[in-house]
Amino acid sequence: MTKDQLLTRLSATKAAVLTRRRALVAGVAAAGAAGTAGVFAVVGDEKPVRPALPAAGPPAAARPLQPSAYRLQPLTGYGPPEAAPHRTLVRHEPMLKVSGRGRTMVLTFDDGPDPRYTPHILDTLAEYDVRAMFFVCGEMAVDNKDLLARMADEGHVVGNHTWSHPLLTRLTRSRIRSEMERTCDVIEDGYGERPEWFRAPYGAWNRAAFQLGAELGMDPLAWTVDTLDWTRPGTRRIVGRVENGAAPGVVVLSHDAGGDRTQSVRALRDYLPRLLDSGYHITVPRRQYA
Ligand SMILES: [Zn+2]
Repeated sequence: MTKDQLLTRLSATKAAVLTRRRALVAGVAAAGAAGTAGVFAVVGDEKPVRPALPAAGPPAAARPLQPSAYRLQPLTGYGPPEAAPHRTLVRHEPMLKVSGRGRTMVLTFDDGPDPRYTPHILDTLAEYDVRAMFFVCGEMAVDNKDLLARMADEGHVVGNHTWSHPLLTRLTRSRIRSEMERTCDVIEDGYGERPEWFRAPYGAWNRAAFQLGAELGMDPLAWTVDTLDWTRPGTRRIVGRVENGAAPGVVVLSHDAGGDRTQSVRALRDYLPRLLDSGYHITVPRRQYA
């Protein structure tokens, strides 16, 4: 490919990403206007009132309101700094479930995208007009940006699952930051937006992961029901675990990569229509800002 061809292709990709962004924004507006369920807030087990600790945040001089400056502000109309919109608070525990009206559940698929399995999962979700979350790894996403683009086009939420799926508790802070940041960049490139959600590999969270995730604008989401599909227990067992665990607010963990995920693909085809028939609304969380 010549340099000119490459440039043409890059600008075409950029245009496509921008189109998707617009589509995403339009889609969100449409969902809101339609008043469908699926717009709901996520709650954790603790009150997310704690602002970033000084050590994790920007230098004190860069803080938005110094105590002296704060006293100069009018007494009305100014909340405390942590009430600023769109600021991600540092949590000490991941969120395990979601809250919402009615029987809402969230399906999440980790470790992909994998061109052998992810398209089948997307097909099934499309067949039932259902949105899900995909916690992708950067090293998988970088070679499968077309699948990230499809997730954006079809209204799914993409979260950050690190670059190479390491045990974060064994990494230095700078390695954790690099794992997260590179993955945010790839997601922005392929999906069109930076991720708002983060999930630690193996569910192994530490303080640095919470702090760095918040710095990068991401909330930590774990899960309620683990299908253990990666152990390949058989399609029926996976289906059974989802159906037995089904309850309002439940977040289900499955995998679309990391090994042979044929059972995970088949199980979804089985349990998704049954959950819908049981009156569950399968949707994705919307972040609630403090
Ligand atoms: Zn994983």
